[in-house]
Amino acid sequence: MRSGRSDRSDRSGRSLGSERANVAPSNDPNDSNDSNDSNDPNDPNDPNGSNGSNGSNGSNDLTSTVRRMFTEGGPLSRTLDGYEPRDGQRRMAEAVAAVVESGGTLLAEAGTGTGKTLAYLIPAILSGHRVLVSTGTKNLQEQIFFKDLPALRDALGVPFTATLMKGRANYLCLHRWELFRDGVDGNTSAAGRLIETSDRVLLPIIDLWAKKTETGDRAELRDLPEHLPLWNEIAAEADTCLGTECPRYDECFVTRMRQRAAESDVVIVNHHLLCADASVRQSEYGEVIPFCPTLVIDEAHQLEDIATQYFGCSLSAYRIEDLVGDADRLLTGAARTFTVRENEETARALARVSDHSRMFFSGLALARALHPGGGQESRARYTAESLEDHFEDGMALAGALEGLEATLALAQKPDPNPTPDVNEALATLQRRAGEMRNDLRFLMRASDPDFVYYVETRGRGIFLRASPIDVSRIVRDVLFERMRAIVLTSATLAVDGSFEYVRARLGIKQASEVRVASEFDFARQALLYLPRRVPPPKAPAFAEAAAREITEILKRSRGRAFVLFTSYAVLRAVQQVVEMTLPYPILVQGTAPRTDLIERFRATPGAVLLATSSFWQGVDVVGEALSCVIIDKLPFASPGDPVTAARIDAINAAGGDAFADYQVPLAILALQQGLGRLIRHRADRGVLAVLDPRLRTMGYGRRFLASLPPAPVTHDLEAVSRFFM
Ligand code: SF4
Repeated sequence: MRSGRSDRSDRSGRSLGSERANVAPSNDPNDSNDSNDSNDPNDPNDPNGSNGSNGSNGSNDLTSTVRRMFTEGGPLSRTLDGYEPRDGQRRMAEAVAAVVESGGTLLAEAGTGTGKTLAYLIPAILSGHRVLVSTGTKNLQEQIFFKDLPALRDALGVPFTATLMKGRANYLCLHRWELFRDGVDGNTSAAGRLIETSDRVLLPIIDLWAKKTETGDRAELRDLPEHLPLWNEIAAEADTCLGTECPRYDECFVTRMRQRAAESDVVIVNHHLLCADASVRQSEYGEVIPFCPTLVIDEAHQLEDIATQYFGCSLSAYRIEDLVGDADRLLTGAARTFTVRENEETARALARVSDHSRMFFSGLALARALHPGGGQESRARYTAESLEDHFEDGMALAGALEGLEATLALAQKPDPNPTPDVNEALATLQRRAGEMRNDLRFLMRASDPDFVYYVETRGRGIFLRASPIDVSRIVRDVLFERMRAIVLTSATLAVDGSFEYVRARLGIKQASEVRVASEFDFARQALLYLPRRVPPPKAPAFAEAAAREITEILKRSRGRAFVLFTSYAVLRAVQQVVEMTLPYPILVQGTAPRTDLIERFRATPGAVLLATSSFWQGVDVVGEALSCVIIDKLPFASPGDPVTAARIDAINAAGGDAFADYQVPLAILALQQGLGRLIRHRADRGVLAVLDPRLRTMGYGRRFLASLPPAPVTHDLEAVSRFFM
């Protein structure tokens, strides 16, 4: 398994927060959840990992205690506003209680409206074992921490504490900040970046905040722009962390967050942090999540994709620039501890790394521009042979990194050392240079059959990447194996009524299963419209016909719709038509940050949002503002994508049928997610429309149809008109 060192591109959009909820004990004398468990909560060798504070009354009792919680007139009915007992929620909670008590794995599909978060939180908390909850989205993470857990405080009648953990990049690194602040000189930062006027405005603000913040979480600085180059130079990344050797280790915000989490009964993370943490677990520098014997993975359908990002390997000019910048900063800040010769030699070694990095990556960028290969794809597969033209530049960069390692090693003073901090910083830089050299060689060799190698272009950046083709073994070894009890849940986890697909993708052999249907009444609340007039997606007339159909549907729904596309090309074609012909406000993905667009959609009467993949899941709009979801094509993953292509090849080579066993199930889950945006509440009503005729005309269409919500189906636009009357 590769170490999964992250590039700058990997850090974007991985924000999560760290706060601690202290949940006070109840005074209710009727609650008798005395703790029977006095084990050390922080002991990873304790197979139960009991937090010792909550305690169930024994294995049989947990299930009956949990069952009582969910009954009519039970604690939830008495304490939660508007709580209605739901049979499906209780069944899921009992299944979770069983697996939390006896260990093992549970696969739980809980349709929309089940209330699945309470169904796992309650047994997990009452079990007395510390629980780690990982979510796919920040929204769900915050909902659990700020809404569900406080609501459970009175209902459970037992004390528990919880910590919400964000990814390391959200926190200020005190050590880097001090070096940065003290090293800003003239017009450039020590990383060689031009100091902008906005940086000069922000410096005193950050300085003041750094002195008084309790958490170091950048979310407290509300006006800080999302993508701020300055933040990259002062964030508490694992890559740049000095660990226990850091002079600010005790005050470090990440250290303190970890300590808070280690004392908590419930720790809430997201899949990005979960995977990032597991990928650096062997290192003393990166791991922040404490050991928890119970793991709940919510939105589990996203786990394979996110694990693929973290258990691979990636190198870009950005990652190398970060290293050079940090080394430059150290040289500037601690110049007096080095001899003139050491200063000159290190500066020369850094310049060599910078030059060779520029040469290598600009050569790759030029080749990508001349031979894009994958057409519109921003990722293109490569082999060692296809990299041949860049081999010399790559080896020269590896040599320069090796030279830097040697120079940094020589600059470290032998004991007794008057400046141990500088020594440790040099050793960290040396380690990072070594990791980059190893990663570059691994990427240039491109010979590990378990990985797929590709070049990715993002904006002006170019990245060499290797991703694991099959993450099941990695997920099992680094995430699942150390857990006593695992619950994987989602509103969309089963395909054709079976968990076979998720079992195969995540390597789950033994597991209990529970499926709970949606609480919503689709027969009454929704209508499924499958038009007959749209040609197959490959037909030249598809975009035009789709635009016509979408216009007609939107006229009837009076806007108030998400139109979800699988490609930008069709999105743009439809955008031109609907902007010209319809009076509704049209919002388009990419014109503003995702959260802003959702807010504007909610606040703008009759708004229509045109979007692609990132809006297919994790978006919640309750009420009339969203009364229609239109999907243009069945969301098959592009077979031109290197990772998808490698997985298809691997399944077929092993004698499987990649289309039936991988591509169709993956697309069914994506379609279910997209359509799942519509009905988020019992009072919601709306029309789901899928334009792709393959749903009706192809054999595999039956599998999609069987997975759609049980709403009445129509092929008649007039039925859509009547629905909205
Ligand atoms: S321990 Fe690491 S993250 Fe914390 S202040 Fe030190 S270098 Fe920064």
